[in-house]
Amino acid sequence: MPGDDRTGRDGTGRDGTGQGGTGHLSPEEFRRQGHAAIDWIADYWASLDDLPVRSRVAPGDVRRALPPSAPEEGEPFDALLADLDEVVVPGLTHWQHPRYFAYFPANSSPAAILGDLLSSGIGAQGMIWATSPAVTEVEQVVLDWFAEALGLPADFRSDGPGGGVIQDTASTATFTALLAALHRASDGGVRRTGLGQERWTVYASTQAHSSLVKAAMMAGLGEDAVRSVPVDPATQAMDVEALRDAVAADVRDGCRPVMVQAASGSTSTGAMDDVAAIVEVARDLAIWVHVDAAWAGVAAVCPELRDHLRGVESADSFVTNPHKWLLTTFDCSTFWVRDRAALTGALSILPEYLRNAATESGEVVDYRDWHPQLGRRFRALKLWSVLRTYGLEGVRAHVRSGVELASYAADLVRADERFELVTEPALSLVVFRLKAGDQPTLETMERVNASGEAYLSHTTVNGKAAIRLAVGSWRTRRTDVERTWRALQEAVG
Ligand SMILES: *Cc1c(COP(=O)(O)O)cnc(C)c1O
Repeated sequence: MPGDDRTGRDGTGRDGTGQGGTGHLSPEEFRRQGHAAIDWIADYWASLDDLPVRSRVAPGDVRRALPPSAPEEGEPFDALLADLDEVVVPGLTHWQHPRYFAYFPANSSPAAILGDLLSSGIGAQGMIWATSPAVTEVEQVVLDWFAEALGLPADFRSDGPGGGVIQDTASTATFTALLAALHRASDGGVRRTGLGQERWTVYASTQAHSSLVKAAMMAGLGEDAVRSVPVDPATQAMDVEALRDAVAADVRDGCRPVMVQAASGSTSTGAMDDVAAIVEVARDLAIWVHVDAAWAGVAAVCPELRDHLRGVESADSFVTNPHKWLLTTFDCSTFWVRDRAALTGALSILPEYLRNAATESGEVVDYRDWHPQLGRRFRALKLWSVLRTYGLEGVRAHVRSGVELASYAADLVRADERFELVTEPALSLVVFRLKAGDQPTLETMERVNASGEAYLSHTTVNGKAAIRLAVGSWRTRRTDVERTWRALQEAVG
């Protein structure tokens, strides 16, 4: 019978008869295998230093090593752990490796993992307040804590007109912001009758993350609705006068500007748009201002690293990803709005089977109205665990160490005349190139990546190839930056 795990056990986690068992691990077996899984993780981390950072498998290698069909009979859990070692680990790029410097970090700290594990164990589905009040209220408290820690305006707190919610990714947060902006600009018309004849337009710099164009596609605006505003070549920050001109030209043409996205830390170089100036341009036409600080926003836990958010107090929404730099196991993207009515107005829907007294009383928040999907897991637990286990001083120390190591890496670049910085380091991101040109730059990077010693990624800045070194892994030390730099020096042809 499902739910009865006292039958047919032989202590291996297998059904003793091999026939018709439930497959549930017994409580004792669950404890034993749970310890084994945690041991596996700790051993995996300990082994990372000696593993190539980037996976070396060829397409199809992993698939070919696995059986084509699921087993008919249950297997011991140990068999899965063995396959992790033999098949999966070689097919992994090790994001928790101390010399992982590609893209941005995706930190999965011990504290976050334990919080996430507890969330799985509780297994609550927090789609509405009534389906598990604590799932909603812990999330509200943790997002209020975090908003305060980042120095965000009081309006964004859940006891004001706004509030925060954990989304799966910044991409979803940005899509959601666009839906709220459309709702507000159309007085609810979009939710009732769709986009109609309006020609809605959206603005962001040429450096904006691709998720904005995707959001415009998903919202039915089409990718052509997104206006790419030029940037200052030196800082890569949005040219706000060009934004003003683009908005004015569109209005003259009969378009309806609905949202401007400010990048506070662009993905390519960490460029910081001037949020305060963008807000000024948006104000007259009541254009929604969304701040995409997916990577850099968490640095604001350090008061001295908040300058890039100046102006956020007048923005309409803000997103940052604790699942990048801030130690919190993917997925955890924290998103705040100044006016939650625009968001819930765009997305609320109440089928009969979800009607309940708490919702009707208006005293509770039902998070299903804050994002595209209905169901949601207890993601606040992992962020709660990070904030409590490290404390704000602990997370600040982590951020500062990333910034210091990046500054050290930038000094190493400056000291070698074959290399040059492409932009000044932004927080923990260093972007540089070989003076010899694009091909030597990319070949040098590829040699390092192929060696397994470190892993870096590339970008294009003002049309020229560049290497990105994004510090911020929780396991990176100064010696890791030094080893990576030596590898780069040796790899120059
Ligand atoms: C990483 C990143 C995103 C996308 O993040 P997801 O959470 O993976 O959707 C968006 N914007 C910026 C600036 C980013 O760095």
